Amino acid sequence: MDCIFCKIAHKEIPSHLIYEDVSAVGILDIHPRTPGHVLVLPKAHVVSIKEVPSESVGDIFLAVKNITTLLEEKLKPDGFTIGINHGEIAGQEVPHLHVHIMPRWRDDGGGCIQSIVQYQKESVEEIKKKILS
Ligand code: AMP
Ligand code: ZN
Repeated sequence: MDCIFCKIAHKEIPSHLIYEDVSAVGILDIHPRTPGHVLVLPKAHVVSIKEVPSESVGDIFLAVKNITTLLEEKLKPDGFTIGINHGEIAGQEVPHLHVHIMPRWRDDGGGCIQSIVQYQKESVEEIKKKILS
């Protein structure tokens, strides 16, 4: 399979690796949005979180926690934005699951996750009905 993040996760091509455990690696994003912008890649190829076996989902979140702790200790940011671009429409460019961890600073000029989009067609009640029906 010709997947760049598989190749990185299995060290077939170089990256700026800053973390590794049995199931995931953490690499510095090649186009960082903030200093210390990390991508967490599961070693097993999946396109999205939906394909991760339930028993392995926790492994990815553990890697996210460990890397966030490492970055906090070493870079001393004021906070973090942590998220996944899930699907092309949401901005996913590489079809191998990756979690972005972006250290944040008070003066970095960025916004919060809610500032990515503002799009409303139905009321909260209508949406709730759809989800629960
Ligand atoms: P996304 O839009 O969520 O798919 O994000 C893909 C991210 O991967 C972007 O932020 C890219 O800068 C980053 N990226 C692409 N290729 C590499 C690479 N070879 N090494 C590190 N980061 C990469
Ligand atoms: Zn892959």
